[in-house]
Amino acid sequence: MRELPVSNLTEAIRNAFIEANYTLPEGIRRAVIRAKDRETSPVCQAALQSNIDNWETAYRESLPVCQDTGIAVLFLEIGQDVHFVNGDFREAVEEGVRRAYTEGYLRCSVVQDPLRRKNTGDNTPPILHVTITAGDRVRIIAAPKGFGSENMSALRMFTPAATKEEIEDFVAETAIRAGSNPCPPILVGVGIGGDFEYCACLAKKALLRDPMTDNSDPFYREMEQTITQKINAAGIGAQGFGGTQTVLGVHIEPFPTHIAGLPVAVNIGCHATRHITVIL
Ligand code: SF4
Repeated sequence: MRELPVSNLTEAIRNAFIEANYTLPEGIRRAVIRAKDRETSPVCQAALQSNIDNWETAYRESLPVCQDTGIAVLFLEIGQDVHFVNGDFREAVEEGVRRAYTEGYLRCSVVQDPLRRKNTGDNTPPILHVTITAGDRVRIIAAPKGFGSENMSALRMFTPAATKEEIEDFVAETAIRAGSNPCPPILVGVGIGGDFEYCACLAKKALLRDPMTDNSDPFYREMEQTITQKINAAGIGAQGFGGTQTVLGVHIEPFPTHIAGLPVAVNIGCHATRHITVIL
């Protein structure tokens, strides 16, 4: 059994959220550059260039890539041979988020109660997804999530009789209905299968995939390409200025499901879909 002081977790989460907000994953940067190369509209090309200038400035000046520094989404994969010591696990995680957002001068966007809406002042609590894995390591994925894109997401419980085309249309229509709200170019995370809540989690996890890598399953790769074409054909373009490159990637995550159901969730990510992985 490997003993791990919870203070290590706090420190790692603090640093991860600051860095995640100041930098973009390389795959997203490359996908935006690819979109600019493919775009035919000069206005959208200029909008994509402003995205590039923005992240370069953010990196150079140690500033957040976007003013919406997000709700703190954390995926923690904890090895079964890890024993957290010297404190409370949950408090240590929250302290890491608290320190990231206060010491890193990141906008605090979380309200304590969804209806009474008083800001917690330190961006806690985070959205925490924990899985137990083999080994004695802890994998931390810190993914600040802005709500311009989150608000455009959708979930639908299809019946098993639904066709592949109906699912493609649902995903494409969700992204098209979003228009310029999620700050396109967008990433489209799609969960298919599981149950009601797990399907949404799959869609969020799908946003972590590098948009420059293809789906390894040819069946889903073809679906992703079809959906991408449908969305791009709507002509939304970067920031909604009317162009050919609305989507950086459509990523599908399937999972076994019940014989009587077919859940499909769509989680929209913007051009500033930030995440960083740290191993302890
Ligand atoms: S959708 Fe993304 S780029 Fe737009 S404001 Fe929100 S976090 Fe920023």
